[in-house]
Amino acid sequence: MNIIEVQNVTKKYSNHLALDNVSLSIRKGIVYGLLGPNGAGKTTLIRILNQITAPDSGTVLFNGNPLSRKDIEKIGYLPEERGLYKKMKVGEEALYLARLKGLSKDEAMERLKYWFIKFEIQNWWNKKVEELSKGMQQKLQFIITVVHRPDFLIMDEPFSGLDPINTNLIRQELMELKRQGTTIIISTHNMASVEEICDEICLINKSHKILDGNLMEIKQQFKENIFSLTLSAEREIPVFPEAFSVLETSTSANQCHYVVKVHEGGNSNQLLKFVMDYGNVLEFNEILPSMNDIFIQQVEKYNSESKIQNP
Ligand code: ADP
Repeated sequence: MNIIEVQNVTKKYSNHLALDNVSLSIRKGIVYGLLGPNGAGKTTLIRILNQITAPDSGTVLFNGNPLSRKDIEKIGYLPEERGLYKKMKVGEEALYLARLKGLSKDEAMERLKYWFIKFEIQNWWNKKVEELSKGMQQKLQFIITVVHRPDFLIMDEPFSGLDPINTNLIRQELMELKRQGTTIIISTHNMASVEEICDEICLINKSHKILDGNLMEIKQQFKENIFSLTLSAEREIPVFPEAFSVLETSTSANQCHYVVKVHEGGNSNQLLKFVMDYGNVLEFNEILPSMNDIFIQQVEKYNSESKIQNP
């Protein structure tokens, strides 16, 4: 079952086509990564999902029905531009915003208490928002985004401005929300987080969808038959057969490490058999391309192809 279906959505600003006939679907309960270079159209799509703006043509379905006003309470949105009232006190502001999302005062208080204890920030309650660092404000905004327990979370750059510890904390919380059944769409340039938490991704470039699907399947699709292997051996392997190209070698303390590309016609078993004669195999792994590499490759490929078509 899809929680979101975007069907042939086009959106034009006065002189710029921000989304051109984009279709995608988001299955319930997954973490979906919305990726793309600056200016690709990601924020425009997010704004359409939030009903801040409407598409010029095309449809968005939420749980199978056209997205409408009543769905807003089921959606949590962490915008990239964090709009907090700086002069208000943290607790007061959190309560105010939680109540705006339809929670009663007691409910809001109870849930905020839970999150403030969980994030160990109880002592922020009476501070002014402006006294918090950017990262601290971000944590507060995260709490406000999830406090009404939305079914669908839209996170625009949730890790920007966070140190590695807080990035990890937010990542873990997102995984926990997923375990509880929340569907999450994340727009981010933090590819390590994409690798870690996204089940599916969509790559948007120049207002077009250029790639989407299951993250592991995409990595498999773009793999280049490269293997990492480590041998316990006194000396390096002098020559590899033609079917293999050694991309990297390093030797230390009686261990030889290689990164090897297996060319067409060869396979990983042949490589393994070959190296076994030179020492004990300590490690043998396929190296899949990183999402970062796939992102760059696909965007560059699309840009050079579109230049040829529209010189
Ligand atoms: P992304 O989030 O991927 O960086 P955006 O959706 O913000 O991309 O923007 C896509 C394109 O649409 C950009 O070229 C941007 O300048 C343009 N754009 C976005 N919002 C507006 C607007 N309100 N008016 C005019 N152009 C806009």
